[in-house]
Amino acid sequence: MKNIVIIGAGPAGRFAAMDAAEKSNNVTLIEKRHIGGKCLNHACMVVCALADVAKHVSESKNFNDLGIVESQIKLNYTKIAQKIRETQKRIRPILTAETTGTGVEYVRGEATVDAERKVVVVDDEDEYPYDKLLVCTGSSPRLPNIPGVENAYTYKDTLKFKEIPEKLVIIGGGSTAAEYANIFSCFGSQVDVLCRSSFLKMLDDSRTEEYIVANLLKNTIVHENVEIKEITDRSVITNYGEIEGTVLLATGVVPNSDIVKDIVEVDKKGNIIVDSHMQTSNPDIYAAGDVIGGLLSTPVSRMEGMVAINNIMDNEVEADYSLVPLTITLNYDVSYLKGDEVNNNGKELAIPGAAGPGSFWNMLTGKTGLTKENIDLESGKINNILAITPSSNIALPYMVKAIKDGDADFGNFIEIHPSTDGIFKLTQYFKRYL
Ligand SMILES: Cc1cc2nc3c(=O)[nH]c(=O)nc-3n(C[C@H](O)[C@H](O)[C@H](O)COP(=O)(O)OP(=O)(O)OC[C@H]3O[C@@H](n4cnc5c(N)ncnc54)[C@H](O)[C@@H]3O)c2cc1C
Repeated sequence: MKNIVIIGAGPAGRFAAMDAAEKSNNVTLIEKRHIGGKCLNHACMVVCALADVAKHVSESKNFNDLGIVESQIKLNYTKIAQKIRETQKRIRPILTAETTGTGVEYVRGEATVDAERKVVVVDDEDEYPYDKLLVCTGSSPRLPNIPGVENAYTYKDTLKFKEIPEKLVIIGGGSTAAEYANIFSCFGSQVDVLCRSSFLKMLDDSRTEEYIVANLLKNTIVHENVEIKEITDRSVITNYGEIEGTVLLATGVVPNSDIVKDIVEVDKKGNIIVDSHMQTSNPDIYAAGDVIGGLLSTPVSRMEGMVAINNIMDNEVEADYSLVPLTITLNYDVSYLKGDEVNNNGKELAIPGAAGPGSFWNMLTGKTGLTKENIDLESGKINNILAITPSSNIALPYMVKAIKDGDADFGNFIEIHPSTDGIFKLTQYFKRYL
């Protein structure tokens, strides 16, 4: 039995703690704010809650435009924010019970580390000795070095808006920028997205970017290659002039590694450097989740936390970053593969989305989505998949599992029509080239 102390009860720390406790260790999980980390309290769940309302507004508008429904939606943003907070409050004790139910000792307070004595100190008072320490302290919004940056909101503040901004200027060009552009443009804001280089460049596909801007983001202007000079309390001053609106930063995150930065090696950005076992330069200290940088997603953070625990318990396991599915939550999910093995080197095939749940009523406007695969015709290996469909966030992970298990025979695969057809049918279609 080992004394394992874990700092941070976000996705990485919480899953690691439960896994370690179930494997009969003494586990202490320390959290300075709320259980669930940024995922429940500021990020994934808030985006998901707001995106559900946005989807409702967007569908209602479509039904009105088609003349099949007559309704007028009036949003109350303060109420939306209040209900999200109430829901988070309801979820936290459930997560706490789930965690402590496995035998984890859950401690609230701010942790610091004394690596010489191998103890974690909480709120400068209580001490928790460890055999092995796992650092899962996550990340915080990155505030770029721009004059007036204090005038901008970040993802941590979106529930503080008193009302829906008439104009919103989003600085950043990644998933978070796209998600907030979708949400607030559906809510009625005129949105400007300012990108330092290109929009959604992680998709590495300008035609998909164009599809998203033209078909999914309404009332949104995307500006690329913008240099930002200053942020004021009501605008952003750029090399192209002044753009007015409430300013929201979607400029990425920085790792919360300060408490160990003098104890373990960190890179230039402050990410804790780990090996494939999640072990740091100090053999008794492991790290997982956003604090080590990388793909910055909840399932990846959880996977890393559990890899760390396995290695702490001497079961040698390596983190596997091949074919990691990710999603941008818009009115259709934009799901795509990321990971070591993904490339655009093969042959590409694309089909428009089918009519089905969530897309039927867009058939008449031709906006049913898009699915693309890139395959190596010699080996038959799927290099990448991109799926813009209502259910792609569910279909793609299962597709990845099938690919990883080497099961490319979809002949006897029984689907639920019409949700998964796009990706699986495309794979079948490709088989004629093999
Ligand atoms: C706007 C936004 C939307 C996102 N949406 C998605 C999504 O839809 N899907 C997805 O997979 N990912 C999403 N992500 C990413 C996801 O939220 C993170 O990858 C994930 O939360 C990282 O988990 P973590 O446990 O490493 O860190 P965190 O969730 O950041 O948790 C770290 C915890 O450590 C605590 N802590 C820090 N320092 C100390 C200390 N000294 N003492 C005690 N406790 C401490 C913090 O309070 C925090 O609770 C999103 C991110 C953002 C910003």
